[in-house]
Amino acid sequence: MTDQELMGLALQEAEKAAALGEVPVGAVVAKDGQPVALAHNLRESGKNATYHAELLAIQQACQVLGGWRLWQCELFVTLEPCPMCSGAIINSRIRRVVYGAADPKAGCCGSLTDLFALPFNHHPVIESGLRAEEASALLQEFFARLRQKRLDQKRKKEETR
Ligand SMILES: [Zn+2]
Repeated sequence: MTDQELMGLALQEAEKAAALGEVPVGAVVAKDGQPVALAHNLRESGKNATYHAELLAIQQACQVLGGWRLWQCELFVTLEPCPMCSGAIINSRIRRVVYGAADPKAGCCGSLTDLFALPFNHHPVIESGLRAEEASALLQEFFARLRQKRLDQKRKKEETR
């Protein structure tokens, strides 16, 4: 599969998250151009702060491949990884990371900070902006709907008062 197609799978995962009321972020770990693990953000439904798409995909890939070293693998993720997930990328030795939209609030691949510029013992290749418009659109749509929902609830409360 091409990078475009693998990111397409990550975007599908992000849509699954949105359908569950989760912030839409999806991730795919691929080896030799084939997906080995697919995951989406499950922080709300899992009631767990560590259930980010990237972490879940990395965990699944370790299980599937039977080891913690993912040096032959590439990660495709719709949003720039946070500090926790960037740490997991270093620790799992993922060779290359391709992300879609930048995250100015928590992105650690260059937006807020660049964790990979520090002298850690592993330095993945980082590429950004692949299908970023689609990833951003999903996020914007999600947060717009959330704001609307909150407004509706507020209005309803005021009406019943
Ligand atoms: Zn994360």
